[in-house]
Amino acid sequence: MLILGIGAQAGCTVDMSKVDINLGNYYEEPVKKLPVRKFDVVVAGGGTAGVVAATAAARQGAKTALIEVKGYPGGTATEGGTALHSFYNLWKAFPGVKKCQVVRGIAQEIIDRLMKVGGTSGHAEMSKGYNYDSVCTAIDTEMYKLVTFEMLVESGVFVCVNTLLAGAIMDGSRIRGVIAESRSGREAFYAKCFVDCTAYGDLAAYAGADYTEPNDYPVVNSIGVANVSIDKYYEFLKSHDAITQQAEGIRSGKDGQIVRLDGRRVNLPSGFSEGAGKIGMSIVTTSVHDNYFMFIKINFKMPVSPTNRDEVAKAELELRRRQAKAIELFREYVPGCEKAFIARTSPKLCIRRGRLITCDYDIALSDVLEARHFDDDVMVYGFHDSAPRFQVKNGGTYGIPYRALRVAGIENLLAAGMMITSDHDAHMSTRNTVSCMGQGQATGTAAALCAAKNCGTRELRYSELRKALVNGDVYFES
Ligand SMILES: Cc1cc2nc3c(=O)[nH]c(=O)nc-3n(C[C@H](O)[C@H](O)[C@H](O)COP(=O)(O)OP(=O)(O)OC[C@H]3O[C@@H](n4cnc5c(N)ncnc54)[C@H](O)[C@@H]3O)c2cc1C
Repeated sequence: MLILGIGAQAGCTVDMSKVDINLGNYYEEPVKKLPVRKFDVVVAGGGTAGVVAATAAARQGAKTALIEVKGYPGGTATEGGTALHSFYNLWKAFPGVKKCQVVRGIAQEIIDRLMKVGGTSGHAEMSKGYNYDSVCTAIDTEMYKLVTFEMLVESGVFVCVNTLLAGAIMDGSRIRGVIAESRSGREAFYAKCFVDCTAYGDLAAYAGADYTEPNDYPVVNSIGVANVSIDKYYEFLKSHDAITQQAEGIRSGKDGQIVRLDGRRVNLPSGFSEGAGKIGMSIVTTSVHDNYFMFIKINFKMPVSPTNRDEVAKAELELRRRQAKAIELFREYVPGCEKAFIARTSPKLCIRRGRLITCDYDIALSDVLEARHFDDDVMVYGFHDSAPRFQVKNGGTYGIPYRALRVAGIENLLAAGMMITSDHDAHMSTRNTVSCMGQGQATGTAAALCAAKNCGTRELRYSELRKALVNGDVYFES
């Protein structure tokens, strides 16, 4: 149109019949010279795990770049679920077991920073439903984005937001660099060691790593719902004898307020419960503000893996239709929500699993349930999302070993977050936010040490990694 317009003004026309769109089914891209940027460590994906990985790598002294496609860090922690599970062991479900904060380090620093800006409930103890989790750590998702962005910058990370990781430059089984695309152009980022925190395992896939696509979860677009009353929601659930989970913590600056509620849907009025069932809506919510439900989850099970663009497009539309119906349900049935509206949606649907990347070790359900530890543990963890059906033995912890984070077949690539662990029931533990954050600290620290020592991820001495993690306030007791 522009060409035709200019042509018409200049008194000549362009013959569009010469633009042949039927010329073959493949287009060969011309070779292009890309500018190169050089780093010690590149972290792909600035979400739940990536924020922590990049911060950890930079704090070890590595020149670190973070490549994040959205305009902010935080990832699914700010878009998907209700609370950060879990910094603690499940002590409340096991009488006699001591309360213990099992994930500390950078993950806890984020909470400390959020606390200062009124952006978290704190580690609020569950007063009901503590067979599931003993605490609820709810966050203000927008403050989380700001706080983590600031932490990255303060740590010296070169933060590239609005930048897509679009390829890997391979040298045999070693990654030499990655291709990054933004409105500043297409660039090559060379580094000695890489961490894939893209959730989808994009970097590992580009590097030729083995993977599968289990498609074993629904996709989701959670909504933040404003103009509501969580206290009236509590009364509504209580009046139907439906409350299954409850926690009190800091809300709108005041302690001792309800910050988490979950309910038995079948107890609620049939119009609400059946309507919620039809749109895959969860009853559970958390809040750190008086008039806001931070998350209401709307689920949809796709027929194929969420790496399929065209099926994702259909799911995106379906989820937005379901979100609108969810608001109608709240307005109609829940007192205090008559004028509720959608205040936040995720910019794209959230996944619970995309690609499953093959690593040197695959954490098994028995490792989780038997509270197994390994001689190369890089963190410990005690939460299972299917509790009380599955709980870590005696309210203890299991270890996540370094080998579970090394991408098989690639010399200098680590993986952190939802892309590890093949067994669905084991993944229901390892995929949770606080586990991903701990994995982030482990992989970022390891990548920086590998870069400093010019070694591959398998040559790094565990004793050195462990020492650096302990210095980073990572907790290791079982
Ligand atoms: C609906 C839902 C509810 C959940 N509920 C809870 C809960 O209540 N509590 C809990 O603890 N856990 C919950 N989880 C699980 C948990 O939130 C996720 O498993 C975890 O946050 C995943 O972290 P991650 O770092 O692997 O991925 P993410 O946090 O998603 O980070 C991946 C990042 O990589 C970026 N990225 C992806 N591809 C590229 C690319 N090619 N180039 C550049 N950047 C890229 C993304 O934009 C994103 O920021 C829930 C998950 C979902 C989906």
